[in-house]
Amino acid sequence: MKKDDCIFCKIANGEIPSSTVYEDDEFRVILDLGPASKGHALILPKDHFRDVCELDPKVAAKILPLGAKIGTAMKKSLGCAGFNLVQNNGEAAGQTVFHFHVHVIPRYENGPSIVTWTPGKETPEELAKTADRIKSAL
Ligand code: 5GP
Ligand code: ZN
Repeated sequence: MKKDDCIFCKIANGEIPSSTVYEDDEFRVILDLGPASKGHALILPKDHFRDVCELDPKVAAKILPLGAKIGTAMKKSLGCAGFNLVQNNGEAAGQTVFHFHVHVIPRYENGPSIVTWTPGKETPEELAKTADRIKSAL
């Protein structure tokens, strides 16, 4: 299903042109307009899902293999040393386009830190309590 007012639906289905690096019946992989590094790509399903919680499991099963394929091609063609797969869900998590997508971000030797956080500290008791809270909602 497509969503009429969704820009990624239009890009994924070819109604709006994009720098496409891969396409099949279910996905289009495009270059990000504001790349975090050279070659930064976005995996877009052609069907509309708002985020990972809405994603069809059959589509989901194909995403990591596709990420690996694109990342491997980036290493061969662009000379990056590695790559990050990043996927944001919800505004608080940095999602700005509400059509599920996965970022494939090439990482170059001595390149800037891109996906980082400052590790916090929690006691084993705090960790156990937090784990219990999550478990209770599964
Ligand atoms: P999010 O923050 O939702 O995880 O990522 C959205 C990404 O889409 C951003 O990195 C942004 O640069 C990219 N983006 C937004 N609009 C367009 C567009 O029209 N074309 C392309 N190629 N990328 C876009
Ligand atoms: Zn969409």
